[in-house]
Amino acid sequence: MTDFWQRVTLPIAGLLILALLLWAVFGAVAALLLFALALLVLYVLHLRQMAAFEFWLASPKEREIPEGHGVWEDLFATLNQLIKRLRKKQDQLSQALHYMEQATSALPEGVVILDGADRIEWCNPLAEKHFGLDTRHDIGQQITYLARQPEFVQYLAMAQFAEPLLLRGVRQDDLVLSIKVIAYGGDKKLLISRDVTHLERIDTMRRDFVANVSHELRTPLTVVNGFVETLLDMEDRDCDMAKRGLQLMGEQTERMTRLVDDLLTLSRLESDNSALHEEPVDVPQLLEQVMQEGLRLSNGQHTLRLDLETQDKLLGNLAELHSAFGNLCSNAIRYTPAGGAVTLRWQTVDGQPVFSVQDSGIGIAPQHIPRLTERFYRVDRSRSRETGGTGLGLAIVKHIANRHQAKLVITSEEGQGSTFALQFPEKRNTR
Ligand code: ADP
Repeated sequence: MTDFWQRVTLPIAGLLILALLLWAVFGAVAALLLFALALLVLYVLHLRQMAAFEFWLASPKEREIPEGHGVWEDLFATLNQLIKRLRKKQDQLSQALHYMEQATSALPEGVVILDGADRIEWCNPLAEKHFGLDTRHDIGQQITYLARQPEFVQYLAMAQFAEPLLLRGVRQDDLVLSIKVIAYGGDKKLLISRDVTHLERIDTMRRDFVANVSHELRTPLTVVNGFVETLLDMEDRDCDMAKRGLQLMGEQTERMTRLVDDLLTLSRLESDNSALHEEPVDVPQLLEQVMQEGLRLSNGQHTLRLDLETQDKLLGNLAELHSAFGNLCSNAIRYTPAGGAVTLRWQTVDGQPVFSVQDSGIGIAPQHIPRLTERFYRVDRSRSRETGGTGLGLAIVKHIANRHQAKLVITSEEGQGSTFALQFPEKRNTR
């Protein structure tokens, strides 16, 4: 028998034996009366313990567990141990939570925890600073109610968080934040904000610098170029050496002009204020033009083909698309030896408009492909220079592709040729 049952049954068994003895001496009535009285006393004692227990249960945090007798002593002792263990666990958990809060407060990034309806559950002091929040009032508020920038509201609503969002003017000052959202725990979100005002300023300075230098170089170059051309045209040039010198000067100034033009194009594409002016572009007609330019560049050395599988139009910017298609076509010709073939293709693949240029040229080794769109990255420097390259063509194409939400896909095999394809989103197909 367990200790509990012994402690419950022993007093009753003792009373029963006493009652039996009394029965023998004083008769049945006296024995039963005494037995009943003893049971009543026992019942009252249990009631007292229960009342004490009930009193403690009403506010267990403030009161001590009552002291018990008999079987209650064991029960209260076990309960006491349980509560001590729970309190210890609770202390450990609050300590851990406190450390976590300290750690997130020390983070160099703002952190906000949002619930399924984008209501703020918790945020660290830096997030309060970034979004102008006040935890005393704003916990439970919808974050889009406090940070109302349309692009931020849309970013949260779209729930596509692969790319961070650059958010300007969250508060009155010129603060620029990079926002990253991580979905977790079912429908919760962790919003991380980073102050990139300084980086943005440096980037703007870099862009402005390149644009300004290119602009400044343009005028002197035009003047020098003009004089070189005039001198070359003059009849009474002294000697062949002077003529050769002038020719070289002419070629180099032309190269510099192209470089400056490409740098200016890149700066314009990078600048945020140059919003895209879009219209349905007649791509087949545009490609006829690109084809003519290609024929002039090839000068009869290549077989050029235009393959129009569709007559669909494309929603985009005519000048930018002309520049991107033209760059790809000129690359194909410049990196394909004489006698090779170049095909310009316009087609729809699974609803997506695709422009591609296929050549039978020198091809590109796989390790270079991921870096081709970097500025001034060239596989073969001398070939690029000889054919009038600036090293900026594919960087320009990549920018234009991004502005049209298009993907530049490059497939190539060394010595066999390359295909450069621009895959546009289906929504740009205007038919
Ligand atoms: P570049 O003015 O030097 O042609 P781009 O940015 O247009 O600069 O291209 C970068 C590099 O990519 C080129 O220098 C060349 O090495 C390589 N490239 C581009 N197009 C082709 C092509 N169709 N075939 C082989 N290589 C190419």
